[in-house]
Amino acid sequence: MVSSSHHSLDPPSSTILEAYFFSSPRIGKGSLSILRKDLMISSRINLKSFTREGLKDLITSLGWKTYRADQIFQWLWQKGSIEFDGMTNLAQRYRAELKRRFRIGQMKVCKQIPAQDGSVKYLFQLEDGVGIESVYMPEPSRRSVCVSVQVGCPLHCHFCATGRSGFIRNLRAWEIADQVVTIQRLEGVRISHVVFMGMGEPMLNLDEVLKSVEILNDDLGPNIGARRMTISTAGIPEGIIRLIHFPLPIKLAVSLNAATDRIRSLLMPINRRYPIRKVIAALHRYVAMTNRMVTIEYVMFQGLNTTKEEGLRLIRLVKKLKCKINLIPYNPIDGCDLLPPEEDEMMSFYELLRTAHKTVTIRKSRGKDVEAGCGQLRSRPLSVS
Ligand code: SF4
Repeated sequence: MVSSSHHSLDPPSSTILEAYFFSSPRIGKGSLSILRKDLMISSRINLKSFTREGLKDLITSLGWKTYRADQIFQWLWQKGSIEFDGMTNLAQRYRAELKRRFRIGQMKVCKQIPAQDGSVKYLFQLEDGVGIESVYMPEPSRRSVCVSVQVGCPLHCHFCATGRSGFIRNLRAWEIADQVVTIQRLEGVRISHVVFMGMGEPMLNLDEVLKSVEILNDDLGPNIGARRMTISTAGIPEGIIRLIHFPLPIKLAVSLNAATDRIRSLLMPINRRYPIRKVIAALHRYVAMTNRMVTIEYVMFQGLNTTKEEGLRLIRLVKKLKCKINLIPYNPIDGCDLLPPEEDEMMSFYELLRTAHKTVTIRKSRGKDVEAGCGQLRSRPLSVS
């Protein structure tokens, strides 16, 4: 755990909060509900908690001109300011006022662990002391970051280290977006793609995930195209349906991993609540309403879900679905009895699916040697100096 001199970890009581805000005649009640959430860490409001629109509401409630919100948002999310003094296009008196009322949330980078294939696993410590992991994945045509959306995960997929480490809490939008901008700054590159495939299930924290998408997409922020962001879910139909109405055209991937409920329930206990047919029905609706292609992710396990029968069932299942299939050889984790597929087993499964005229790819998982591959991220106790 880390102790910080300027972040009180005790949540201020709501009475104190209200007294704080309403003692200032310029902060209205409307802003209070937005702010309350982020006040668990400090009595000063974290300006990174807001999308640009939210920041505009806050700034105008101070009686400042709206364009000040644009300037501040740009300092925070494009120029990576970590203190108000550097915001040089704001007059001194504005900076002083910002400093008095607000703070800029920060995550601590505890470790950067490079893998042989060029990817880098990042271990972050959040303001309340918990740890999360993200992965930077450079390729010739893209530089991606795989972000976490929760500390741990409540879904307990059998093959996943994150699920085994339990669930601690949801991440806030700024904590999700900050993984990307921090990695961008430290790697000295422009991040082109973001995949929401790290620790946690995005659909169980969808408000914050979508808010982070807005921040990442903002042209005064990281300005990452919505089509270059992919949300990956274990298959929660309500979340899939909600995404239909989200205005930005982000991509959707679903981790299916089996074509029969018996096998899928063994791998992913969430399947008992949302069996395959419900997930596929939600996907059909999503495709019909958005006309976007979805990705079916399929982690392959030796002798379990790579049989001919399972392949034929999978083909039938997705026959009418506008989708591509992404096959991922399993990355072994400690304490899990499942094995990665043999090379020829993998190839014959791949060939079988190709006969169905779907786009099928085998994804090489990145960063396996440093446990940064799919399903290998976990929240672990961090020792921080
Ligand atoms: S695979 Fe995804 S949904 Fe399943 S336990 Fe791991 S992080 Fe959670």
